[in-house]
Amino acid sequence: MRRVAAFAALLLAAFPRPASAEWRSLRSEHFQIIGDVSQGQLRDVALQFEQFHEVVTQLIPSTLRGGSPPVVVIVFPDQRSHGPYMPRVNGRTVPVAGMFVGGQDVNYITVSLEAGHESFAVVFHEYSHLLLRGVFANAPLWFNEGLAEYYSTFEVANGGRTARIGKPIARHVQLLRERRMPLSQLFSIGHGSKEYNTDGLPRSLLYAQSWAVVHHALHGETRRRDQLIGFAQRLGAGGGLEDSLRATYALPLEQLDGEVQAYVRRQIYQHLEVDFTKSLVTRVTGNAVRLADAEVDAWLGDFLAHQRDRDSDAEAQLAKSLKARPDLAQAHAALGLLRWRQGKHDEALPYLAKASAASTSNEVAHFAYGYALATGGTRDSARLADAATALEKAIALRPGYPAAQRLLGYVYLQRDEYEKVRDLLGPMVKISPGDHDAALILAAGLLGLNDVSGARALLGPILAASPDEDARRQARTLLGQIAAVQNRSQAGSSRPSVAAPGLEQRTESTAAGTRSSGPSVILPLRPLRAGEQRTFGTFEAIECSDQGVVLVLQGPAGTVRARAAAFSSVEFTTYRSQTGGTVSCGPQPAVPALLTWRSEADSTVAVAIELVPDGYIP
Ligand SMILES: [Zn+2]
Repeated sequence: MRRVAAFAALLLAAFPRPASAEWRSLRSEHFQIIGDVSQGQLRDVALQFEQFHEVVTQLIPSTLRGGSPPVVVIVFPDQRSHGPYMPRVNGRTVPVAGMFVGGQDVNYITVSLEAGHESFAVVFHEYSHLLLRGVFANAPLWFNEGLAEYYSTFEVANGGRTARIGKPIARHVQLLRERRMPLSQLFSIGHGSKEYNTDGLPRSLLYAQSWAVVHHALHGETRRRDQLIGFAQRLGAGGGLEDSLRATYALPLEQLDGEVQAYVRRQIYQHLEVDFTKSLVTRVTGNAVRLADAEVDAWLGDFLAHQRDRDSDAEAQLAKSLKARPDLAQAHAALGLLRWRQGKHDEALPYLAKASAASTSNEVAHFAYGYALATGGTRDSARLADAATALEKAIALRPGYPAAQRLLGYVYLQRDEYEKVRDLLGPMVKISPGDHDAALILAAGLLGLNDVSGARALLGPILAASPDEDARRQARTLLGQIAAVQNRSQAGSSRPSVAAPGLEQRTESTAAGTRSSGPSVILPLRPLRAGEQRTFGTFEAIECSDQGVVLVLQGPAGTVRARAAAFSSVEFTTYRSQTGGTVSCGPQPAVPALLTWRSEADSTVAVAIELVPDGYIP
């Protein structure tokens, strides 16, 4: 979460950048570092961040999803020069040692060399959240905060050859010796809890106790690193507290609570020393380049534009940049994006067009330009062609850029380029089946290619699992179009349509707290005809013999066995993404299904089998 650390009271006043400032820019493997400091200082900062990145991703093998926005680190020599860019609340500067400002296009970090370790602790905490975001879904809050606190102690020693991580945090240890938060309470805290959202003792205890659980697992005598991760993973997957703990730590909750309490009373703590002499990251060698004043103003203006309530300061700084360099693509991109975030899409368009035409290296400017073209105004073919070009540029700059891929898929769909939709979004949906926006566009593309079963396998899970009513409605509409597609030869063709994807992935922003009961599902099931009955249960097997086939379903009142002359005479439909369009004889993966049958003489005759998504409630 966004956190700012108070720095020792400094009198801060807004003042202009001194004319003598010499700003430089340095690119390392994972960072862009800019600052009004010497080349050597820029390299030192770059080294610390690169080593931090390496240590965090090594300790917890991270699956940071492709397409994470770039990270720009702004280095100020002292708190005085940092001041004008610190957050403002009600017109007053909030003094901070360092900042992390995340954005869809770029993540900004500021550090001040004067604030030293305090500056880095704040930003390492926040940056580790960014790195760990993709490790696994729904990680519990205490796990994220505990790890971030653990990592925040990172420091480089021995001239860059060693890093230390996990040194005890004195304020946490001291607090936990006086007060405690029972683990049952800690483990129940989520993003909506008052302990997390209100400043005060419970919040301090939350951070301290989370840190203690993590430190105990990593450095206590019992060394439970893997158990800690397994425990958090099980909780994230919806497992119960006691069960998950027993399956990993093999302990009851009270015993772990007691162990952690005893742990914080000790006086000596271990930490980790990472030896970098065998690794590549012992120094950063790239050359820093001098930045022109207009470029510095563009960077700082964009940084201000990413903060809350700093739009007018941002605009002033960007205007200054454009006055000195009217052709500077970076400033056009920043100003266009600022207007665009303000919802002034028409005003944004000319700036974004200039930035995109000048091939700015800011991929979000290309994306925003493509977005404005694809979703606003009249969507004629020339606009759609320009939108596709801009989005292709954005993806070339950041391969895997999720929002740009979804939108480009949507543009291809508008252009009836169904193969391109399939080739672009097929692999993406395979990796992230929870990306329902992408899945909807892909399903529409597959319908355009007459791939009915492929489309249906995508749409069923959306109906079943999407917390978003709009996505479910679109899935229902597309399923309704399937019948039309099947009769296309008679009915004439119509393009399958979906709404333009949102800027953020809906399932990400609304996923928290929506897992519990699940939405009600209305699948377009095969209507029951006279004399037919339907049983809901688990599909178990297809027994094949010379006499025909028997479908075996475990229903609420016992096993149902329904026969047919051949499987091809049973209507088969799947609304599941995991199951292919065909099944074969033998035991079946136990999936929920609806079996439609009718009684004929003494036997039960199979009519249809419909495989439904997990969590389906008839
Ligand atoms: Zn945090």
